[in-house]
Amino acid sequence: MTSLTLKNVRPMAGALTDLYIRDGRFADSAPEGAEVIDGGGRIVIPGLVEAHTHLDKSLLGLPWYRNEVGPRLIDKITNEREVKVALGLDPQVQSERQAILSMSHGTTQIRSHVDVDTHHGLAGIEGVMATREKLAGLVEIEIVVFPQSSMMPRPGTLELMDEALALGAEVVGGIDPCGIDRDPKGHLDAVFALAEKHGKPVDIHLHERDALGGFSMEEIIARTKALGMQGKVTISHAFCLGAPDRGYVAGLQDQLAEQRIHIVTTAPASAPVPLVKELRAAGILTGAGSDGIRDTWGPYGNADMLERAMFIGLRNNLRRDDEVELALDICTFGGAAIMETEGYGLGPGDRADCVLVEGETLAEAVALRAPRPLVLKGGRVIARNGTCVIEAP
Ligand SMILES: [Zn+2]
Repeated sequence: MTSLTLKNVRPMAGALTDLYIRDGRFADSAPEGAEVIDGGGRIVIPGLVEAHTHLDKSLLGLPWYRNEVGPRLIDKITNEREVKVALGLDPQVQSERQAILSMSHGTTQIRSHVDVDTHHGLAGIEGVMATREKLAGLVEIEIVVFPQSSMMPRPGTLELMDEALALGAEVVGGIDPCGIDRDPKGHLDAVFALAEKHGKPVDIHLHERDALGGFSMEEIIARTKALGMQGKVTISHAFCLGAPDRGYVAGLQDQLAEQRIHIVTTAPASAPVPLVKELRAAGILTGAGSDGIRDTWGPYGNADMLERAMFIGLRNNLRRDDEVELALDICTFGGAAIMETEGYGLGPGDRADCVLVEGETLAEAVALRAPRPLVLKGGRVIARNGTCVIEAP
């Protein structure tokens, strides 16, 4: 286990101090004879949290993929299934490449949705699990079993999801119960039945907008309440909370808060989004993620959660320092709370997962997004000056 002294750092941009790490956790006194690293007066924050991505299908490291996919959601889903075969995409290699990129930017834990479908079976799950094992102790990877290609219209998908959960995936996923599955009752009953059977939390992609999304959301809320799953359900994207009818949205947000349902946003520029200040005011736990990075859906993304904090700021018109701090809080404490991370923080006893960032204040750190001088996972150096200590395959 790792012990060291991290000298001259400013926790959360506060006063200059030394942090002590003993056996992978912060301690209140210096470990004897341990290595000393000088932080040079930089800000230290807990490890960044990537709370929504798709490690299994990034095209990182491959020749440029020319995207000529159609405009509908179903076009992208069908295209992706075909391209994966054509390129012979290896989910283990791709997930390792993306995880290492994340680590280089200061991310110490990742929630990844991983495709399960009747075409590729559990190849994605097995690949990401192999990466998780390979990178154990360096980054944490949580797997959401994700029926990207739909569930009810493709018999056999549910059984594969069940199998993936038995193999050790941590979260039950779902997707647009109306828009993609066209069977909201069937889809959500199946998702929540799997959650109950395996005793796992739920994280559902909900792209449906306006009243349709609101309808699906209320169906999720009803099941959360009926099964006593308060605090165990996350809705990713939740575009319907960006609807113009703010009175209607406020009603939905009250219900979400009551059932302690969490929201994860990617703050996309191209869709209505939940407003993070409203979520915070309503008491709804909020995390953030990059979503797909350099994949068949789109060419963008670099896995930098400080940049994601900036996108949250831009999309929500956050300008004041306290508002930018909220965006960063979503990319750190928010995601960690949603993933129920034990010992997340910088206090004595917390896990020594942290990152040094450049800047005078937290808001400047987000504005600068300079390469991270140092990233620690359990007190172990996993990246220096924007480069991960492990080389990508
Ligand atoms: Zn996603």
